[in-house]
Amino acid sequence: MISKERLYLSFMELCAIDSEPSGERLMADRLKELLVLQGFTVIEDETAEKIGGNAGNLIARLKGTSRAESILFSCHIDRVTPGIGVKPRIEGDYIISDGTTVLGADDAAGLAAILEAITAINESGLPHAPIELVLTVAEELALTGVKHLDTGQLASRYGFVLDAGGPVGEIVLQAPEQVKFKAVFHGRSAHAGAAPEEGVSAIQIAGVAISRMNLLRIDPESTANIGSISSVGPSNIVPDRCELNGEARSLEPAKLRFQIDALTEAMASSAAEFAGSVDITFLPCYPSYKLAEDSEPVRRAALAAYRIGAPVSFKTTGGGSDANILNNRGLPTVVLSCGYEHAHTNAERISLEQLALLAEWVLAIIDPEVIRL
Ligand SMILES: [Zn+2]
Repeated sequence: MISKERLYLSFMELCAIDSEPSGERLMADRLKELLVLQGFTVIEDETAEKIGGNAGNLIARLKGTSRAESILFSCHIDRVTPGIGVKPRIEGDYIISDGTTVLGADDAAGLAAILEAITAINESGLPHAPIELVLTVAEELALTGVKHLDTGQLASRYGFVLDAGGPVGEIVLQAPEQVKFKAVFHGRSAHAGAAPEEGVSAIQIAGVAISRMNLLRIDPESTANIGSISSVGPSNIVPDRCELNGEARSLEPAKLRFQIDALTEAMASSAAEFAGSVDITFLPCYPSYKLAEDSEPVRRAALAAYRIGAPVSFKTTGGGSDANILNNRGLPTVVLSCGYEHAHTNAERISLEQLALLAEWVLAIIDPEVIRL
């Protein structure tokens, strides 16, 4: 039922539309057109004004033709930078960019697969459940779009987020909580040659603090990273300010709390020993979630993958997605791997075979026969 040619063309059309975070207007407008053609009613929410972007989240609904209950699919419509002027092309078995931008398969692969599956089901005339789509903006900006979504308006009891690398058939059961932090170390400036003993080096405080931190892979569930350290000044002045930006994640909330305490202790103890000070701000990004293997969306996704002949596997991810927010708001949503590789780099690509299999997976999830098995 899937038309591979139509799918590949539609995927490449979406990749070629400029759609960086908070600049998704062209993508939102084109998706609205494509969805209305397939019989959806589409609402755009007011997220654009709230986040200073030019497009809001799209909530689209297609009436059911069977008595089955509504199911939800979700993708984000933005992509990481550089994501403007993407020139997708088929090379061998893959679709790639020209190497100067990302491809945008994250998350256009999901969008194209959903559109193709729905086009195919409409053509077939097969009965199907009511379908809800949540297409979010600014996902790549710490899930900003979905955080502004009114989930109370959704009719579905559970859903599927198409937004992970890895082979089609792979199902993400668990994702971590993430907290970002910013720390500003304060020292005291002094002449670096004439009177360094009168100074307190903010860079030195930060350096010692970092040496006391447990970073990168902390344990199987937890990670932490310093993303930037900055202090600008000439070499002949003892620096009085240094800023650190970092993050910590864990699948286990208690371990994340411990990690936050340990990071705070490392920074505060160093500042105290040098007679300086530090202001630390922790910013919660998103909560963790864990779905059971026998939960409804996981079983439905696994059965559908089995039915199309894709190897079923379960995994835990270290990254966040819109599912972190949706699950935490009481809407069980499972993340499906979409077959793309090297996401967030200019080497991003997807094989023709995986893209087609992804559309078949969506179709098999929608198809009521899956429920009868
Ligand atoms: Zn993504």
